[in-house]
Amino acid sequence: MSSMLLRGGRIVDPANPAAPQLRDLALHDGRVVEPIVGQRYDEEIDASGCVILAGGIDLHTHIGGGKVNLARMLMVEDHRSGADPIPLSVNPIELASCGSCAPGTLATGYRYVEMGYTAAFEPAMLSSNARHAHMEMGDVPVLDHGAYVMLGNDELFLQLLSEGGRLGRNFAQLRDYTAWTIASSKAMGVKVVNPGGISAFKFNQRKLDVDEPHVHWQVTPRQVLQTLACALHELGVAHPLHIHGSNLGVAGNIASTLDTIDALEGLSAHLTHVQFHAYGAEGPNKFSSAALQLAEAVNANPQISIDVGQIMFGQTVTASGDTMRQHANSGLANPRKWVGADIEGIAGCGVVPFRYREQSYVNALQWAIGLEIFLLVRNPWQVVLTTDHPNGAPFTSYPHLIRLLMDRSFRNEQLARLHPEVAANCALRSITRELTLEEIAVMTRAAPARLLGLRDRGQLGVGAAADIAVYREASDREAMFATPEYVFKDGRLVARAGKMVAVPVGGTHFVEPDFDRGIEKLLRRHWQAHGSIHFDHVAIGKDELCSCCNGGRLLPAACFPHAA
Ligand SMILES: [Zn+2]
Ligand SMILES: [Zn+2]
Repeated sequence: MSSMLLRGGRIVDPANPAAPQLRDLALHDGRVVEPIVGQRYDEEIDASGCVILAGGIDLHTHIGGGKVNLARMLMVEDHRSGADPIPLSVNPIELASCGSCAPGTLATGYRYVEMGYTAAFEPAMLSSNARHAHMEMGDVPVLDHGAYVMLGNDELFLQLLSEGGRLGRNFAQLRDYTAWTIASSKAMGVKVVNPGGISAFKFNQRKLDVDEPHVHWQVTPRQVLQTLACALHELGVAHPLHIHGSNLGVAGNIASTLDTIDALEGLSAHLTHVQFHAYGAEGPNKFSSAALQLAEAVNANPQISIDVGQIMFGQTVTASGDTMRQHANSGLANPRKWVGADIEGIAGCGVVPFRYREQSYVNALQWAIGLEIFLLVRNPWQVVLTTDHPNGAPFTSYPHLIRLLMDRSFRNEQLARLHPEVAANCALRSITRELTLEEIAVMTRAAPARLLGLRDRGQLGVGAAADIAVYREASDREAMFATPEYVFKDGRLVARAGKMVAVPVGGTHFVEPDFDRGIEKLLRRHWQAHGSIHFDHVAIGKDELCSCCNGGRLLPAACFPHAA
């Protein structure tokens, strides 16, 4: 491997606040190293006039697994080259791949890297579909990747919980089952989607609030949340429970979101796509912004982190494990088609195409609510920039979103184009805050790395991985963030001025929590009775993970010791 010096740039690295911004950055063998005066480097790059950031990390983007593929198959129009806003590549380094709201695996990697992103995490992997999810992510070029496995709607979990969950006689079993599921599916964490609600939907419940019992198992979402959050805490998994809360998209759902935070009783958790969970039921259309209430709760609970799930106007496709809510939204499908699916009875899935419109009061207010959340939460380390790709918008809209957050007059211009009642019914116009470059760097790389326990990513201190994006400083932040001058992955130049120049295989992040293997006796019995594959074939081994992931490096992340 080679050595390199990036000279004269401004290094914005919020994870290392004491380091001077104006300094040279030296790289050796894919790592950041201390620059040595007089040292000769294999390559020197003049980065004057540029801002140097760690590579971007998307901690919630649907890039692998069943839902994404169903979305691709459903959105054939998104893959016809004539209709595709992003033309098929003429770059010889890129194999053909297309699509904008449901891009193919290759296009996913290219478009992320062209914006300076170097890692992305799939938030909703089913354990029974983990091989497919890893294979699909392994097919995404350049990006490192990982996934959160879904729990909390599977029969075994709900059965054990109903017989005694947290503080009950089954807690140790539930904790070991959680650990075994992470270990066997090679996940990076656990996501719970509409806790208990996907299962309740199958028992004909059409809503399930935080303290409402599941008709069959007689457990509540509160119990599911507490048990999973507690299990992950005891297992020392760095990324706390990743929560897609109850009542997604429902007017007035802020009450459920606040109850969800309350249910955690001070344990760490990550609330995802909170824009879809911060709605009041006031005002002319019985639909209002509850961004302020949400932000106040986040500000008061430093152990809670969020990602926003910002919406943008135009065509997209929503893909969620939340069958209950996707079924409810299916009447809004545009174009009019949708898919609901389930495998092994352990979770669910709904894919509904959607077109967000500027002249729709509800859509325009959703747009404003997302921005309000970004601007009202005080500590940027608690907020991650996402559109919940593709649910709120394709990830390719990030540069536009960054400009909306950094440029108040641009934001107000956009607001003025929307449904006329929206500005009058939300606080956005009165919010003067403009996010700084440092705050954007926190929300797009430093905070996601910290929330995932990736110690050598999202930062540029000595020893950090040389995942780097070099942006030419410009007052138009959208143009600046759309096309970095240079993008490096593990020290290797992968994109130059928005064009891919190399496509190395990305690595796989996962965690390996310790647990009592005695749980496998119970699991084997359960699989024999209910599973469609032999129990001995369920767990993914390391060699298999490596070959699933296109031969990419395995990047196990450390668990932290739990102080009982
Ligand atoms: Zn979700
Ligand atoms: Zn999502």
